[in-house]
Amino acid sequence: MEKIKMTTPIVEMDGDEMTHILWKMIKEELICPFIDLKSEYYDLGLENRNATNDQVTIDSANANKKYGVAVKCATITPNAARMTEYDLKEMWKSPNGTIRAILDGTVFRAPITVKGIEPYVRTWKKPITIARHAYGDVYKNVEMVIPGPGKAELVFTGEDGSEQRETVFDYKGAGVLQGMHNLNSSISSFARSCFNYALDTKQDLWFATKDTISKKYDHTFKDIFQDIFDAEYKEKFEKAGITYFYTLIDDAVARVMKSEGGFIWACKNYDGDVMSDMISSAFGSLAMMTSVLVSPDGNYEYEAAHGTVQRHYYKYLKGEETSTNSVATIFAWTGALRKRGELDHLPELMQYADRMEKAVIQTIESGKMTKDLALITSLKDVTVLNSEDFIKAVRTTYENM
Ligand code: NAP
Ligand code: MG
Repeated sequence: MEKIKMTTPIVEMDGDEMTHILWKMIKEELICPFIDLKSEYYDLGLENRNATNDQVTIDSANANKKYGVAVKCATITPNAARMTEYDLKEMWKSPNGTIRAILDGTVFRAPITVKGIEPYVRTWKKPITIARHAYGDVYKNVEMVIPGPGKAELVFTGEDGSEQRETVFDYKGAGVLQGMHNLNSSISSFARSCFNYALDTKQDLWFATKDTISKKYDHTFKDIFQDIFDAEYKEKFEKAGITYFYTLIDDAVARVMKSEGGFIWACKNYDGDVMSDMISSAFGSLAMMTSVLVSPDGNYEYEAAHGTVQRHYYKYLKGEETSTNSVATIFAWTGALRKRGELDHLPELMQYADRMEKAVIQTIESGKMTKDLALITSLKDVTVLNSEDFIKAVRTTYENM
């Protein structure tokens, strides 16, 4: 069989530990036998980030901007223990944070659903995608512990010396105080990323804030979304047969629980943090969650939502058998290749991605799966496969489809 040709390279961001091991197996078994892979390779493994003073992460993000599509392996975010383990020069920042800052994007997370791994919420028939705003609010706040009586004020001093002043509270005793901010530019990027992703995936978009209580802060989010929608997206949504729906956050939560799924739920930073963990665990497993960073100017970075699965890696290093789930990493590859096919008008590449994803799902539904899924499946008589044998089983399914 002739291999599928590509025209533009995808940016390949390799990573760490067990996911780095899976990365190689996925390429060898599921990608390279079928595709004449064109990729620009960046080694984001911690050793190389340390050796290049993290320049490799910046270079890879710039390549993502240049070519448009990247696929990323999970990477270690260093902490104190990693400083000694890898003898690091510095506690390098999270690569995901660095890439996000350069691309200025929104992260979309969606569960991969299969028969036999049923969501805990009975009504959910289709995946729910969370779009989390990744800038500001409580994550860039300033806080104070108030020791006793006194007045707290909110003061803004304009560059021209003008002033806005509000009393936050007249304290009669001890308490706490917090200040938060956000930016119109960031909220606008968030809105455009969400609208574009909804069009891309032909799903309705929901957005919710607490604008009835937060009449200036949250209301600005609501207004920016509505203004951009009316000016730039309304007609496109009508043409695509999808809708934009705004409601209060508490109403949204109630509706999500009673919905069938199949939509994108745009969340402010904190809501997205909390709700994405609820959605992923309610759908079954973190190892079945994909993640894509979409920038407002149309760059995409695909990855698995989980980390480097360190505990399994240490077993692997000792020569013990591992049963690590590669599904989200495989879907990161197929997502990136499908997008590349779409942008370059390569239908064969898009068909490959669809077929490979079907092969993964069929393999699991036929009862062959890794241990994490075997523990939660409702299927009977399942075969638990090790990391490598699962990938090989997917290849066999693919070849026999
Ligand atoms: P993790 O790698 O997501 O793993 C946590 C646990 O979840 C694992 O020990 C395993 O449970 C289970 N699990 C996760 N993915 C799995 C898979 N594919 N197959 C089977 N089980 C899976 O999180 P972590 O151990 O907290 O973090 C490890 C490293 O990953 C850290 O250095 C962190 O900085 C990094 N990280 C990177 C990213 C990223 O690059 N996007 C995201 C998160 C974390 P059992 O051990 O019970 O089997
Ligand atoms: Mg969280």
